[in-house]
Amino acid sequence: MLSNNANAKKYIKILATGGTIAGKSQSSVDYASGQLNIAALIAEIPKIQDYTKISWQQVANIGSQDMSIKIWKTLYTAIEEAKKDDDVLGIVITHGTDTMVDSAFLFDLLFPSGKPLVFVGAMRNADALSADGPQNLLDAIHVASSIEAVNRGALIVMNSKIIRARNAYKRHTAALGTFKTSNGSYAGDLYGDDVNFYHNFSREGENKSIFNVSDIDGIAQVSMMSVYPGLSVSYYKNALSKINKALVVSGVGNGNFPSFIAKNIKEIVNMGAIIVRSSQVPEGYVSRNVEINDDQLGTIASLGLSPQKSRILLGLLLKKNMSNSQIQKIFECEVPTTDGSCGIFPN
Ligand code: GLU
Repeated sequence: MLSNNANAKKYIKILATGGTIAGKSQSSVDYASGQLNIAALIAEIPKIQDYTKISWQQVANIGSQDMSIKIWKTLYTAIEEAKKDDDVLGIVITHGTDTMVDSAFLFDLLFPSGKPLVFVGAMRNADALSADGPQNLLDAIHVASSIEAVNRGALIVMNSKIIRARNAYKRHTAALGTFKTSNGSYAGDLYGDDVNFYHNFSREGENKSIFNVSDIDGIAQVSMMSVYPGLSVSYYKNALSKINKALVVSGVGNGNFPSFIAKNIKEIVNMGAIIVRSSQVPEGYVSRNVEINDDQLGTIASLGLSPQKSRILLGLLLKKNMSNSQIQKIFECEVPTTDGSCGIFPN
């Protein structure tokens, strides 16, 4: 039966953070995220007790534009506890869609295998006509209960689709099917109560993540700057001179930036900053030495990672004291684990 008793055997743990799935109409704006608690959302799913036992924890109740290092760390601890609890089958995280990809990718790096870890949200607030949250949440619970979701890293479940965090991106501000995949297909879908994975992708056998909760702080130290036609030279040079640790350039095309800033990029690399080139283009790869000579400038190419994802990975790496070529290798890696599968760890 439906239960919030952590002693009940074999259950799905729901960690709630807010978002539109918990949103309600407001008089001053259309609606506000994070207004309802998770117990109220669960109450909207008829006969949930026919499916599974669940337990829940309200970690935060925010619009995900307010997601922070502090909440990520609280979430880390809650996920770690649930992973260790033998009675937990899988974990569902309710989250606003604005930064769901950021969080899902972060926790994919931190918990690359083991129990299912499923992110879910909604595009219509809880009191909207035809709210999508209850169905999405039930779908996420189905996926988190599925043995097939084990060892697949973090997944996003929305609009009957299952998407790997690593290649997910949000493509529409309002559509129900807002999440799409870059460089690969959906991982699977749901048909009624059935969970279907299309491929046998699994991370079984891989070891633990090289990252832990203390690495999350590094993300705050990574700046991100966009380039665009008509960029003010003085503005960019001034902004670059303030980078002291790490920067992701949200470039155009193959992670390109205007040639006039190359000299400044090289200068700050020489001063010890780590610079990753990524792209505003949502699909494809940013490869080394295509139009920009990375070998000469000392820059790192993001490969298939978006600027937002590059920022998270680079932030986690900051404490590791790695050379640029080691960091480049990590960007080429599916997920850095302690088994040395990326060719670097253990060292
Ligand atoms: N800005 C809100 C959030 O990310 C609304 C987007 C959503 O949840 O769909 O929490």
